[in-house]
Amino acid sequence: MRSQNYDVVVVGGGTAGAVAAVAAARLGARTCLVEASGHLGGTCLALANITPFHNNRGEQVVRGLPQELVDRIAARGGTREKPHRPNPTGVGGSCTPVDPDLMKIELFEMAEQAGVDLWLHSAFTGALVENNRVIGVRVHNKSGYHDLRTQVAIDATGDADVAVHAGAEYVQDVPEAALNATLVFRVAGVDTDAFIDDSRREPHKLMLLADPYLREVRGLDPARVMREQVRDIFDCPYIYLANLVRDYVPRKDWAEWEITGEDRSAWGRLKVFGSRFSIIPVPHRHDIVTLNATSITFDATNGAAMSRAEVEGQRQVRLALDVLRRYIPGFRECYLHTTTPSVSVRASRRVTGEYELTRADVESQTRFPDGIARGAYPMSVQVPGQPNVRQHLFVRDGGDYDIPYRSLVPRTLDGLLVAGRCLSATREAVGSARMGAQCMAYGHAAGVAAALAVQAAVPPRAVDVAKLRSTLREQHAIV
Ligand SMILES: Cc1cc2nc3c(=O)[nH]c(=O)nc-3n(C[C@H](O)[C@H](O)[C@H](O)COP(=O)(O)OP(=O)(O)OC[C@H]3O[C@@H](n4cnc5c(N)ncnc54)[C@H](O)[C@@H]3O)c2cc1C
Repeated sequence: MRSQNYDVVVVGGGTAGAVAAVAAARLGARTCLVEASGHLGGTCLALANITPFHNNRGEQVVRGLPQELVDRIAARGGTREKPHRPNPTGVGGSCTPVDPDLMKIELFEMAEQAGVDLWLHSAFTGALVENNRVIGVRVHNKSGYHDLRTQVAIDATGDADVAVHAGAEYVQDVPEAALNATLVFRVAGVDTDAFIDDSRREPHKLMLLADPYLREVRGLDPARVMREQVRDIFDCPYIYLANLVRDYVPRKDWAEWEITGEDRSAWGRLKVFGSRFSIIPVPHRHDIVTLNATSITFDATNGAAMSRAEVEGQRQVRLALDVLRRYIPGFRECYLHTTTPSVSVRASRRVTGEYELTRADVESQTRFPDGIARGAYPMSVQVPGQPNVRQHLFVRDGGDYDIPYRSLVPRTLDGLLVAGRCLSATREAVGSARMGAQCMAYGHAAGVAAALAVQAAVPPRAVDVAKLRSTLREQHAIV
């Protein structure tokens, strides 16, 4: 067993953890980042379409380190000329398609330049706890076990592995009530112009302007938006097919798929695709798109279930390919380009923090005195009793809400902050706060808070929140 000392140890190198580590190191904290895989970026790399930097009024809600990351990727040519694209679905005010490989490179560069000590291919195996305070983590890699001792740990594992192992209170919904997971894949050989032409002719086939604010207050019309604003796939940076069966599968084929009606509950063998069969452009190829279509319901904290989920994901990719080639205009000649390394998980455990962000907070655009990031995506929530069907609950008036610092501070444990989708929030609220732009924004805050805690020699819950917010503002974050 070897041992090393740090000021800040971040576990989990997804978007939240990577940004948190950079933020802490830039403020002078001796920081390390522990990541089980060989790269940074986590699940955000699967879709490679960061959402949302804007609310539905078109106001930017996230800047700071997340914006710096986008700017750096853009400088290497890894985004469209205008990286943030208005989002005609109305599900999030903007989408930012990025090249996932350039995102990996930039995250490494930012970490190295900040002086973050990278522990890649290193799995967290246990928390070191003393008097109800996390004092380090144990990790395992090819050279054995290591104890990384620290003043502040940040749990950015997505699944709250550190917090739970250290004895923090947490909640986890049963898999049927939680958002399902997805094996994301890309197809090449797509005629995206043919697809967009078809959608412009029949705009009802796409989910457009789903936020009531856009139609009822702003008076926008879906057909007009498609006609006047959409020239190619890049003007539709996130495409949701409104109803796969009703709009694309001819009736003569229904028996073959055991379909008995247009309602999702009657989709027979295509029921696995439920409410989400989404097509997402990659930044600089007309002929390659990402598919967010497969849907797997399982407990992402159960090792055996994770293995079965990978196999099921691959099965559904084959099914989706068949559907694409046979029924979706422009996809007849498409072929499988890549499946992402593993199933991407939307929901598992959430730490019980000093404050639990709620549906009412999100809906009513709540501002908190300790607000450290802003969210604007609608709450995506699993519809009870309907596998694979989700609904969106929107922030009122196309606006945005604060994520409070207290949602990053575990209620019953010291020496630890959480960042990313395991923050303290209800099932509905996390359906909004889990998005990539937000995970990065409060990852930024967690990193700054950890460094301030070290500087002041106080536990994270005693960090001077006014100083935290002013430091974030100095670093161009929107708080
Ligand atoms: C299918 C899908 C589609 C999505 N679409 C979008 C989208 O279009 N736009 C958008 O902005 N957001 C999207 N999201 C949401 C967003 O990508 C994630 O919620 C967000 O990126 C989560 O970031 P995170 O850092 O909290 O967690 P993750 O990205 O899950 O990162 C956690 C990291 O911790 C590591 N880790 C976990 N356990 C351990 C351990 N024990 N030891 C060491 N390392 C560990 C993992 O390897 C991983 O790198 C999507 C999510 C999913 C699942």
